Amino acid sequence: ATEGAPPALELDDLVMHFGPVRAVDGVSLTIRPGQVTALVGESGSGKSTVGRCVVRLLEPTSGSVRLTGTDVTSLSRARLRPHRRAVSIVFQDPAGSLDPRMLVGEVVGEPLRLLGGRLGRAERERRVAEGLERVGLRPEVARRYPHELSGGQRQRVSIARALMSEPSLLVADEPTSALDVSVQASVLNLLADLQRDIGFACLFITHDLAAVEYLADDIAVMYLGQLVEQGSRAELFAQPKHPYTQALLAAAPVADPVRQRARTRVLLGDDLPSALDPPPGCRFHTRCPVAVERCSTEVPALRHAGGGTVACHLVADDGTGPDVRVGGTV
Ligand code: SF4
Ligand code: MG
Repeated sequence: ATEGAPPALELDDLVMHFGPVRAVDGVSLTIRPGQVTALVGESGSGKSTVGRCVVRLLEPTSGSVRLTGTDVTSLSRARLRPHRRAVSIVFQDPAGSLDPRMLVGEVVGEPLRLLGGRLGRAERERRVAEGLERVGLRPEVARRYPHELSGGQRQRVSIARALMSEPSLLVADEPTSALDVSVQASVLNLLADLQRDIGFACLFITHDLAAVEYLADDIAVMYLGQLVEQGSRAELFAQPKHPYTQALLAAAPVADPVRQRARTRVLLGDDLPSALDPPPGCRFHTRCPVAVERCSTEVPALRHAGGGTVACHLVADDGTGPDVRVGGTV
């Protein structure tokens, strides 16, 4: 049914600089209707900034954002209004994103205003109760304040609110990483179930590749403001081509997040360099275990290789290349 329909999201050469900080530096990405793309990278890679540009919390420095075929990049506030309902965002920290003075019912019901037309009180309450039920919360929760709920319940409220306007695209920015480990899986499963049932497209932003295994159709890996690899989930898990993706994936089977970070650090060494002064050539060369001389001077282009796209000098057109995971470092 989605054949020929315009993509839910199209980013074309998106750039977002904050003064000298090159947070996002030329990202192009397409999400088809009903598809989930995971945007993966360490904190500081610029992935949250991409998400904020998509929902127009930030106005990009250059490049364009198209939602279901409409370029919303330079629309005025008034002309943007009909497109606002097309996209919603769920933030990492529900405590910070829910107004503490509003009852849960008001929080969840607020986006209904975007739908136009005046709903009667009873109809509004019915829709709010429906919205809460969808995320596994009882209707009574509508009469409570966000601070009276657990972190997991608050994130369910954020999700209910985000879906109220029936968006064709949901941006989920690290939706479980501020939650107790014990409830992370249930919130992730809820998102996956809702996505399958309702069929909205999703830009799922996360630092954790393992978390996307059951959710994402496609994966885009970001490093210091740029995409370094893109492909279907199946391809990327079976044969990660970029050394950075390989390093992130080397940690993926480890369920314990502390051990996982330690393993990633063994491969990647130091923290992410600053986006204020990104390394020349391949931005990853200062941490890449297989870097060669030209890596520090020549910028590798993002190009098609073995079913996906990748930006690395050492990956051949058929997708073969080095694998840092078998180099003895892991
Ligand atoms: Fe490593 Fe060079 Fe490939 Fe960059 S281009 S990922 S530094 S091998
Ligand atoms: Mg972030």
